Amino acid sequence: MFDPIFKRFSKDIGIDLGTANTLVYVKGKGIVINEPSVVAVNQRTKQILAIGQEAQRMVGRTPAHIVATRPLVDGVISDFEVTEQMLRYFIDKVHQGTYSFLRRPRVVIGIPSGVTEVEKRAVIDAAVNAGARQAFLVEEPMAASIGARLPVQDAQGSMIVDIGGGTSEIAVLSLGGVVVSRSLRIAGDEMNENIIQYARDNFNLLVGPRSAEDIKIKVGSAYPLPEPLYTQLRGRDLLTGLPKEVTVSDTHVREALAPSIRVIVNEIKNVVEETPPEIISDIMHRGIVLAGGGALLRGLDQLVAEETQMPVSVADDPLTCVVRGCGIVVEDLENLKDVLLPTNFERIPR
Ligand code: ADP
Ligand code: MG
Repeated sequence: MFDPIFKRFSKDIGIDLGTANTLVYVKGKGIVINEPSVVAVNQRTKQILAIGQEAQRMVGRTPAHIVATRPLVDGVISDFEVTEQMLRYFIDKVHQGTYSFLRRPRVVIGIPSGVTEVEKRAVIDAAVNAGARQAFLVEEPMAASIGARLPVQDAQGSMIVDIGGGTSEIAVLSLGGVVVSRSLRIAGDEMNENIIQYARDNFNLLVGPRSAEDIKIKVGSAYPLPEPLYTQLRGRDLLTGLPKEVTVSDTHVREALAPSIRVIVNEIKNVVEETPPEIISDIMHRGIVLAGGGALLRGLDQLVAEETQMPVSVADDPLTCVVRGCGIVVEDLENLKDVLLPTNFERIPR
């Protein structure tokens, strides 16, 4: 009975539940949370000690019984309970400072394309258990494309490549749906692994994932640069066991990243080959759009353009594309229902 009045006060939210970062958009407000998808758990008591930024600071610094995990590391919910707790933490954080008469929010969540029905169900349950009144799912490539302002609902083909931490999503979209898509388990984390392996093989140097990521961001590239870049890489000498520092250049890092980049580029080419000709001509016109943190790798746009013979651009602020797309859906849920994933199950009544 009170619905029409209270509906206006419900704080609907959009969530990019990324493998590396979780972002939350609140209707009428914008992005209010941007934190790493990390949870620190005490293995002895199973108690959650910290979530997000605070848990991130504990990574690599915890005593044996405290484990800092990334529950979504493969892009799917690998740890259901921890994911639910993380969602609850973020939803509660948004709800703080509001009055209790506010309705629980409706939530739009971006999930990787190609997740199973069971995984979709798990995400919806997690959101509802975490305090959502209703949960809707949108495929991440769709959300990223909406965030990049591509005309996804028109009879116009668009192509998006979203390179995150755990997964890379490559998709061709048209008329509010996914025409061709691939989800790869090779993305930013694997690139960090490539650097760790490279340092071990070439410099006898043991480095941690944080240093590897640092190097990737400072001097990483996918295409030769006009001016060389250098930085220091610190770690432990595998022969002496002592700290050691070496100077690495963009050429080293490009060589290190090559295996992952090759897989991603080949997969982009495969998707292009599978795309119907009419849509290819649309994409040739508009270009392939890169999103996600991996889109920030220097020269990736150039390499993809050269390999596919298509124009390529990097989305504005690629790290927030998915959540901004979820936000656009949240702001206009009634008109954008088409882009949501059909879910063959009713929400659980509470
Ligand atoms: P997810 O959606 O999986 O949470 P994000 O889109 O937030 O992932 O991207 C995180 C990934 O982007 C991380 O692997 C990070 O190392 C990578 N990344 C962030 N900035 C850069 C950069 N400047 N160059 C290369 N990779 C980057
Ligand atoms: Mg993402």
